[in-house]
Amino acid sequence: RNEREGVYWQPFTANRLLRANMEARTLVSAKGAYYTTSEGNKVFDTLSGLWCTPLGHAHPRIVEAVRKQAETLDFAPCFQLTHPGAISLAERIADLAPQEMNHVFFANSGSEAVDTALKVALGYHRIKGAGNRFRMIGRERGYHGVGFGGMSVGGIVSNRKMFAAGMMPGVDHLRHTYEPQHMAFTRGQPTWGTHRAEDLVRLVTLHDASTIAAVIVEPVQGSTGVIVPPVGYLQRLREICTANGILLIFDEVITGFGRMGENFGAQRFGVTPDIITFAKAVTNGIVPMGGVIVTDEIYNTFMTGPENAIEFCHGYTYSGHPMAAAVGHVVLDVMREEGLVARVRELEPVLEDAIHSLKDLDVIADIRNIGLTAGIDFKPVDGKPGARGLALFEAGLRNGLLLRCTGDTVSFGPPFISTAQELRDMVSTLRKLISQMG
Ligand code: PMP
Repeated sequence: RNEREGVYWQPFTANRLLRANMEARTLVSAKGAYYTTSEGNKVFDTLSGLWCTPLGHAHPRIVEAVRKQAETLDFAPCFQLTHPGAISLAERIADLAPQEMNHVFFANSGSEAVDTALKVALGYHRIKGAGNRFRMIGRERGYHGVGFGGMSVGGIVSNRKMFAAGMMPGVDHLRHTYEPQHMAFTRGQPTWGTHRAEDLVRLVTLHDASTIAAVIVEPVQGSTGVIVPPVGYLQRLREICTANGILLIFDEVITGFGRMGENFGAQRFGVTPDIITFAKAVTNGIVPMGGVIVTDEIYNTFMTGPENAIEFCHGYTYSGHPMAAAVGHVVLDVMREEGLVARVRELEPVLEDAIHSLKDLDVIADIRNIGLTAGIDFKPVDGKPGARGLALFEAGLRNGLLLRCTGDTVSFGPPFISTAQELRDMVSTLRKLISQMG
């Protein structure tokens, strides 16, 4: 290999692992629901890239839209200026959101969307004269990106321990809802765990409601392995937030744009938050885009006087980027024309039946699913976590599956264009590979 040692620095300090097997892990092309590795293996994309390519790769209409937009308007400053694509995309996104959420602020990634949401929440209270509401409540096992805001409210200690000095002040976390002894192998939403929402009452009492700005949760915790909310849990969080003047933020970076079989998780779970964050699928992974959708109440508060709008000194060079907006339009067109959200609803029971059929495999500790997502946990080997996940990932690459394995957890979020047969084949291959692994 010709690369200079260490010039290319991968996320998550995976370099040592990677170098051992770089060739097999290098992806060189992608079409539809498949990647091709540099060794020539064609692998089914079981996580839609990183949850971000629901329409599959190299969609001809997206490719064409990118080319056309690059020729027409490749960049437009978003300070004092805008362009038609951003305005109309904001309108379309707002139309997909719950009724009272009609205003979109664009960012460029999930992490930026989360930081934007936290800043909107602080700004809102400040304008309302409740500037002492500075606390944020996240949730154990929550993932909200790698910005300082997202890391602070995130519930994964290992992600932030090196950066402890930069964490936001006044952040606390709800207990997670996942207890395998009560809910292992549940199909869809568990009925156990609704009471965990009462943990918010504890935090509200502990910190005094009047100091809390917002609660941020993923409707389904994606990055930590598809942790599905117990029935009624999100409703109860909503009630407690409303009763205490606290804003509720749904981080829908994974659950947004159809993955739950509804436009947003908000609709799937029948709960309207005050702020929704989105990213990933909105541009099908081809160019970055993220953003927040807020209620009329929040928007109107910011617009009560020009000084409030101006003091909200926040925005990114690439906010509402013309290339991203052009792709966003095509993504929404294709989703509508091809009925892809309804297709997710059709595929959900297929994935559910297939993935839960693995239950008899002795090495599996739990299987979960909702929408077009699923998670599997392996039992640790000799008390050491992670061995099976890594072995399965390697075996998958050689046997037709690109898998997302983190520790002992495998997460699934196949493209919406997958066929029922492809989902069943994916699970048959998994059975074979897991059985061989022992
Ligand atoms: N929030 C959630 C719920 C996510 O799943 C992710 C990414 N997996 C992020 C935020 C961060 O997004 P990004 O990596 O685009 O910054």
